[in-house]
Amino acid sequence: MHLERLGVLPALQSTAVDIRESVFFNRFGQLVYREPAGLFAGNAGPQLSIHRGHLQQILAASVQARLGDGAIATGHQVLSVDTTDQGVSVHSCDPAGRALPCVRGRLAIACDGIHSAIRRQLNPGEGEPVYRGVQMWRGTTVFPPFLGGASMVRAGWLSVGKLVLYPIRNNVDGRGGQLINWVVELNAERPQERDWSRTGLLSDFLPVFESWVFDWLDVPALLRGSALVLEFPMVDQDPLDSWTLGRTALLGDAAHPMVPRGSNGAGQAIVDCAVLAACLARHGLNEAALQDYESQRLPIARDIILTNRSQPPDAILREVHERTGDKPFERIEDVISHDEMAGIADAYRAITRRAVADPARFAGFAGLGSPDRPI
Ligand SMILES: Cc1cc2nc3c(=O)[nH]c(=O)nc-3n(C[C@H](O)[C@H](O)[C@H](O)COP(=O)(O)OP(=O)(O)OC[C@H]3O[C@@H](n4cnc5c(N)ncnc54)[C@H](O)[C@@H]3O)c2cc1C
Repeated sequence: MHLERLGVLPALQSTAVDIRESVFFNRFGQLVYREPAGLFAGNAGPQLSIHRGHLQQILAASVQARLGDGAIATGHQVLSVDTTDQGVSVHSCDPAGRALPCVRGRLAIACDGIHSAIRRQLNPGEGEPVYRGVQMWRGTTVFPPFLGGASMVRAGWLSVGKLVLYPIRNNVDGRGGQLINWVVELNAERPQERDWSRTGLLSDFLPVFESWVFDWLDVPALLRGSALVLEFPMVDQDPLDSWTLGRTALLGDAAHPMVPRGSNGAGQAIVDCAVLAACLARHGLNEAALQDYESQRLPIARDIILTNRSQPPDAILREVHERTGDKPFERIEDVISHDEMAGIADAYRAITRRAVADPARFAGFAGLGSPDRPI
């Protein structure tokens, strides 16, 4: 919805895969639950799966078109922000650690991710993100479409091997193959330092999935097909009581890092942006705008962080795993009713929908920063 108002939806749709359904399986490949997604579920917008780099390219092109080539500066590692009644001073260095000239402005919005330097500055006693007992490996594989080529799949369970996969680009090889994004999740004692580019070993998790050869997908072949495997610990942080200090505010993972079990981290960062932009349009570039943004977004993000820990949508798979004693079933109806599974999915959606329920939150957001309404 927000990306459509910014005018980037056509570019996203021509690059992304329009997901039609969300499907859950046990680790024996048996269908547990399926529900429509995006436009196919009657939502106002599509559910698009896209490569992170492609999304960033489309957004960067839109920012440059609206604000000019100089609007994006790369190679600045932000170290700290000084905030006064009049404005902010942002201190940063280049990749070699050499200090760069201080940048002054009226507000600073820190969207520097899960290891945010500015979050640390605002909350000095907080410590590093907390490991939640699950190790993740991630890769992308060019593969023939499965289940019709537009499904988001969750399968298995964390104690015996869980898999999340969805296509993120169509026809990447000229023969109809899709780029499939996959994430393997396993309970593990051992936390690893989190880094977007830490390489992982296939041998650490492939044995768990060797038997996952289904009539709808050959999982070991899919996992083996990735040129690169990356490894992440599943981490989050306790919700904060405040995201702002004077004229500085946190946004996205810097404000609300959450375990990635509801496919919501990037979406919530986008909603943050839309609400913040609407607050700036309403109040001007001042502290009142940041306070308004925080009061609208913080309670909802807090609820999502906590729900992602205890009852995300994949709780459906936990129920099936526990009730079957990790065995194949004859009929899923004998294990759990469709209504109970729909209830788990609906309860999660009820929380995330609060984030977008009130259109008044976003009034004026799309025009801000356009050539006729510069910031
Ligand atoms: C394995 C995995 C799977 C996930 N799957 C999904 C999913 O399916 N759907 C979903 O919505 N979310 C998913 N997420 C979560 C999602 O990736 C994040 O919520 C999202 O990227 C947050 O966006 P952000 O812009 O706040 O932070 P980031 O995307 O982390 O971006 C922060 C940026 O700030 C830069 N930066 C960091 N420090 C500094 C500094 N000091 N100075 C300047 N720049 C700095 C970084 O280089 C980076 O470019 C997943 C996460 C993981 C780990």
